[in-house]
Amino acid sequence: MTQRIGDHSYPATHSGFIGRQAVVIGAGIAGLAAAGALADWFERVLVLERDSPADALVPRPGTPQAGHTHGLLVGGQCALEDLFPGIGEDLVRAGAVRMRINQDLREEFPDRAPMPQRDFGRIGYTMTRPLIETVLRRRVSQRANVTLHHDTRALSIVATANGQRVAAVRCVSAARTLTTDADCSETVPADLVVEASGRGHLTSALLRSIGRPLPEETTIGVDIGYTTAVMDIPHDAPPDWKLVLTHPNAPHSTRRAVMIPVEGNRWMLSVAGRGNERPPGEWSELLAYLRQLSTRTIYDAVRHARPTARLARFGFRESAWRHFERLEAFPDGLIPIGDAICRFNPIYGQGMTVAAKEASLLHRLLGACTSERDPLRGLGQLFLAEAKSLIETPWTMASIPDFAVPATRGERPADIEHSLRFGRALSRVAARDEAVQRLVVEVWHMLKPITAYQDPALVRLVEAEMMESTVG
Ligand SMILES: Cc1cc2nc3c(=O)[nH]c(=O)nc-3n(C[C@H](O)[C@H](O)[C@H](O)COP(=O)(O)OP(=O)(O)OC[C@H]3O[C@@H](n4cnc5c(N)ncnc54)[C@H](O)[C@@H]3O)c2cc1C
Repeated sequence: MTQRIGDHSYPATHSGFIGRQAVVIGAGIAGLAAAGALADWFERVLVLERDSPADALVPRPGTPQAGHTHGLLVGGQCALEDLFPGIGEDLVRAGAVRMRINQDLREEFPDRAPMPQRDFGRIGYTMTRPLIETVLRRRVSQRANVTLHHDTRALSIVATANGQRVAAVRCVSAARTLTTDADCSETVPADLVVEASGRGHLTSALLRSIGRPLPEETTIGVDIGYTTAVMDIPHDAPPDWKLVLTHPNAPHSTRRAVMIPVEGNRWMLSVAGRGNERPPGEWSELLAYLRQLSTRTIYDAVRHARPTARLARFGFRESAWRHFERLEAFPDGLIPIGDAICRFNPIYGQGMTVAAKEASLLHRLLGACTSERDPLRGLGQLFLAEAKSLIETPWTMASIPDFAVPATRGERPADIEHSLRFGRALSRVAARDEAVQRLVVEVWHMLKPITAYQDPALVRLVEAEMMESTVG
């Protein structure tokens, strides 16, 4: 017995919907958030995921990064709330830990006192990435018109004969590969296809198949190694912080660490470094590595702890931004989203937030085009143009400190030395000025764009600090 995926009969659209069937490729953070965005505007939304359903809060083969610390910034949390009202409370019920921003964060620097732990009246949540996905999957599954198809791999996106528009997704499901059909694949019609596969390969393959150019790509080579340990929080854990972030002593060292509380009263500790400073995979060696961080807070907190599972490791070569928005023409009915557009250096914790913000953007754009005669015409290009502005802030915030390391590959911005000095001075000003720290926190959490730093009064303050440090 084989099962057909989705709706092949294609009934007429009811009023209120702008399309009959939308297909999302990938049920990671971007795909699940996008499914929530589409459910209001399409009669039926199918989510195709190559992995089997996750039956526990553990990483899946399709998302090996999920065994590492995944911080959700407040901007991402707000975007998820737009799409799934009350999701913050769902996360807490599932075990996420509430965090007072920045009162519960100890942010440490190699050359000065930690950042003051001021309370800015905002709440964030920390948890493992599988927990975020589980809660999102539950919320998506509650939408009557959304169906998740696990064990189903999308093979290609199919365009109409003239190549102007997307028509379908060709996929293969585990159920069908067990059949004796010569061609086990199935073609699922779609008015809109969202590629949230984390890669963007299917969008590129479609562009190639219809004779269109591929997007230019900006890359920043960082070659980062990650090691993550999970352990029970000891009874004598320091009471004055819940989360620690230890910055590296750049440019001399790239060793950094972040430790967050996650569900089950556990700490998740991720350590990262580059080149010969890649963190080791054995606990005793990792402890020795932790002693060489620029401060001892994390080492002192965990030295008597034991990891509850094998340490997880990950290698990340380069950040990559595919500039689909620069293409002159883009097929209608196609939206790449999340890592399929831009993969960020993970140490800054931005990818999920950008994915959620893009899904929220998609929801808004779909809502704004309902009265158009052909609502999906030009939507992809509009989405990609607006997504570019979303991406610019996190990309810039990550690339500036990345280029502080001489071994970083990529095109260094001409004013990089000035940007690095400005960033360091801004951080020192923020330490003594609560209003400036609030702004820095809002930009970091993607609640405000990085252009907020161009405010003339702020620039004067920061430049005075830069002068003082030069003279000093
Ligand atoms: C080590 C590491 C740490 C990170 N830490 C953070 C962090 O702290 N904070 C943060 O915000 N982000 C972090 N990220 C980034 C984050 O994981 C992603 O940016 C974010 O999850 C968005 O990814 P996505 O949904 O676009 O893709 P993915 O998470 O990669 O999901 C893609 C999904 O598509 C499925 N798929 C792929 N191909 C197919 C196909 N052909 N057919 C069907 N299904 C398919 C995969 O199985 C997978 O489920 C980190 C990344 C790494 C590598």
